[in-house]
Amino acid sequence: MKRINMAVLAGDGVGPEVMRQTLRVLTTVAPDVTHESGLIGGAAWAEHNDHFPKATRELIDRSDAVLFGSVGGPVDQSHLPQWHGCEVNSILALRQYLNLSVNHRPARIFPALRNLSPLKNTRLEGCDEVLILRELSGDIYFGEKRTFESDAGLIAEDVATYTTNQIRHLAHEAFRTAAQRKAQLVSVDKANVLETSRLWRQIFTQVASQYPSVELTHMLVDNCAMQLIINPAQFDVIATGNLFGDILSDAASALPGSLGMMPSASFNADGFGLYEPSGGSAPQLQGKDVANPMAQLLSLALLLRHSLQRNEAASAIEHAIEQTLDAGIRTADICLTGEQAIGTRAFTDEVIARLSPS
Ligand code: NAD
Repeated sequence: MKRINMAVLAGDGVGPEVMRQTLRVLTTVAPDVTHESGLIGGAAWAEHNDHFPKATRELIDRSDAVLFGSVGGPVDQSHLPQWHGCEVNSILALRQYLNLSVNHRPARIFPALRNLSPLKNTRLEGCDEVLILRELSGDIYFGEKRTFESDAGLIAEDVATYTTNQIRHLAHEAFRTAAQRKAQLVSVDKANVLETSRLWRQIFTQVASQYPSVELTHMLVDNCAMQLIINPAQFDVIATGNLFGDILSDAASALPGSLGMMPSASFNADGFGLYEPSGGSAPQLQGKDVANPMAQLLSLALLLRHSLQRNEAASAIEHAIEQTLDAGIRTADICLTGEQAIGTRAFTDEVIARLSPS
């Protein structure tokens, strides 16, 4: 079977509509990138009675990267076989299938949308992007879990585990990433209380000696949550474990003002990448041409840059989006009172009009 650059898994809800628009952008900016679509989530269930069918795994096996949309159905239909366990059996299974161990979540504050942020403009002064690198393979999600009876009643237990290798892998990725940006890295842990965090801090300190150009700061997670709100401009790259990363990246995603603008990228130890919007399938928006395509478009830009080394094409997409926003063009989720919203397709038309082929 022929190898291709990109497996396209649009999934459910608004996934297929934003993906359709994203592929129009790809055709304009990098028409030579080869891609093929596969089924995942509820859409795969409808055809194969399986949320992550063999045909999709085979497609991924012969791809250089995965562009993922979103999966899941309306919450009130979660009892139906098509949606029951859909996320666990599709996106979570896919992340495990690919052994993804690092998640990059950039929270970018677009100058034209500063007024949309829940933070005052003065708090955002000097803050253009906060990038959170979250370790994905260890921590409390994967340790032993049990609930048992005791004299004091039921006891629930979740074991948090980190190996030196898991931390070291994330640390190298974080230092390399920071070195290519502002050379500032904040490692977030809870070393005043947790053994896993003490190991985390020790390994980050060791790895730091190999990256003398990067300034490393350690910060406790509770302080970091507060600092993200009172002074986000102090951060460029934050590296943290699975649980803290889950929470802090959602907190940081509030800075730009809408989930519909938030892309993400996840990598395994071999550098294979999966790129997806940070949000879900937004079923209530499905079929209405109102979803913001930016998260999917920016995920494509990350894929082009990191997996296909097409930096020019990636920058062209990011630049065209910024120009579109600067021109006051908005989808409904990023409209302030009195502003006029346009649809998913029309917004993409405006982005395409501002693109030049690479
Ligand atoms: P959601 O992320 O779909 O929606 C949360 C909010 O963000 C909603 O108000 C929604 O309208 C808005 N939003 C999300 N994407 C948007 C876009 N592109 N444009 C404009 N607004 C957007 O989360 P939810 O409502 O909790 O979950 C809906 C479904 O998505 C569920 O079935 C859930 O299981 C699934 N889900 C999937 C993923 C994934 O595929 N990785 C992640 C989270 C949730």
